[in-house]
Amino acid sequence: MFVLGIESSCDETGVALVESGASGLPRLAAHALHSQIAMHQAYGGVVPELASRDHIRRVLPLAQQVLSEAGHGLGDIDVVAYTRGPGLAGALLVGAGVACALGAALGKPVLGVHHLEGHLLSPFLSADPPEFPFVALLVSGGHTQLMRVDGVGRYELLGETIDDAAGEAFDKSAKLMGLPYPGGPWLAKLAEQGDAAAFKLPRPLLHSGDLDFSFAGLKTAVLTQARKLGDALESRKADLAASTQAAIVDVLLKKSMAALEQSGLKRLVVAGGVGANHELRHQLDAACAKRGVRVHYPELHLCTDNGAMIAMAAAMRLQSGLQAATDRYAFDVKPRWPLASLGAPEPQFG
Ligand code: ATP
Ligand code: MG
Ligand code: FE
Repeated sequence: MFVLGIESSCDETGVALVESGASGLPRLAAHALHSQIAMHQAYGGVVPELASRDHIRRVLPLAQQVLSEAGHGLGDIDVVAYTRGPGLAGALLVGAGVACALGAALGKPVLGVHHLEGHLLSPFLSADPPEFPFVALLVSGGHTQLMRVDGVGRYELLGETIDDAAGEAFDKSAKLMGLPYPGGPWLAKLAEQGDAAAFKLPRPLLHSGDLDFSFAGLKTAVLTQARKLGDALESRKADLAASTQAAIVDVLLKKSMAALEQSGLKRLVVAGGVGANHELRHQLDAACAKRGVRVHYPELHLCTDNGAMIAMAAAMRLQSGLQAATDRYAFDVKPRWPLASLGAPEPQFG
């Protein structure tokens, strides 16, 4: 069975084709991605209207590219999956509209996928896929959550950020340092040349005793430090970047270890854009090795948004018993949508 996946929740248009059998993990046949980063960079962040318009321009050529790379045609598609939420409403509507139109034209079922479930299941596309159950650290541009995952759709929220996401902490701190959007990867690169102990920055909620996070105070501390440095900021930027990264990674690390301890699980899965961060991976690898915990990541290029994770999540839900609907192409999107509310696979449409 072939599942075509379309991602358009924010500033990446992604399309992918996944092949799935009755058993065994679905396999990625081809995927293509267009990032709008360059377009939004001039504005220092994502401009929703520009994002929607660009998704419209890109999505069909990307779908054609994916099918031709996989050596298949439109007629080979069995299910069309799209990101139903969370994300920017206008951007989501493009993927949803195209997916439902395609499904209707082909007479094939469509399936709306939760964007975070896509991130969460993306490590199953890697050469070293995890096995259930596991603790998941979901660290992206808009979310920071620890979950207990017992199977597809069986997600229990253990803790989450009460304000900014980890990716936001990276991006906002980077912006204060004059780095381009999105700042996470730029800050990480700069941090390689800096001293992580140079500035003492707060580790919010580190000793809160629960598994929640808070990053808003850290951003303020970075701003205060940058102001204090004044003209000296330019020469101390790498040190400030390294200190900022260390504070974020430290909190993510300690809370992940606490979640593993509390759950008694011996497997950690990291997903989302911040999961591409080398320092985070390095620290988690070391801490997990010490505790006999297996840790799994998505492939580096599949950490941030892509169509492969959406096709994969749809294929895994279908394998777990979900029936995709063939009779309804009316669609809605869910700009806000808690992952833990998703539940195990069941027919989505009436
Ligand atoms: P969400 O998935 O929560 O809706 P999103 O889709 O915008 O948000 P992702 O695409 O998963 O988020 O990740 C983007 C985030 O990852 C950005 O904040 C970006 O700065 C961050 N990021 C990407 N690479 C790195 C890196 N190497 N180090 C730190 N942060 C990174
Ligand atoms: Mg993005
Ligand atoms: Fe994302």
